[in-house]
Amino acid sequence: MVLGNDLCSENKLDGGDTLVAIDTSGAWWVGSSPGDIEEYLRAYSANGYPTTLFRLAVCGCGSETFRLEADDDEGVARRTCVKCGEAHFICDSGEYWGDATPETFTCVECEDTNCNVGVAFALYDDSPSAIKWLYVGERCAGCGVLGCMAGWKVGLDDALHLLDQV
Ligand SMILES: [Zn+2]
Ligand SMILES: [Zn+2]
Repeated sequence: MVLGNDLCSENKLDGGDTLVAIDTSGAWWVGSSPGDIEEYLRAYSANGYPTTLFRLAVCGCGSETFRLEADDDEGVARRTCVKCGEAHFICDSGEYWGDATPETFTCVECEDTNCNVGVAFALYDDSPSAIKWLYVGERCAGCGVLGCMAGWKVGLDDALHLLDQV
């Protein structure tokens, strides 16, 4: 279970990327907007399975603020909209939820439980539609701290429909 960005606090991005929106000066990376989860996960995954696709979670009601539960061992995550209460299993999480012991997101910095959620996907090199791995990232709605609560193997051909199930 990796909560917060203990890996990334030691990561320095390779030159070329402009991270004007992300403050990396403190113990945790802090993003100024929900979309900063994408840059964060790109850096986070660089030492694992580098991600090239990203989707930000948006509820059917239009809200981008959720409570997030995840089990990094089982590889599942569920988000619940704080505005309308709708719960949604992220990608293929519903299939494995019954075996999971999820933890609820609580910010390491300010203990807020509301966050923005985004998922980054790593594809197989030889297929543009086969997904190897995904990472569930979050940004604290209170203070902007970025983290990755869970990541898991997908290993599916023709899996781009998962991009619509973030
Ligand atoms: Zn909603
Ligand atoms: Zn916070």
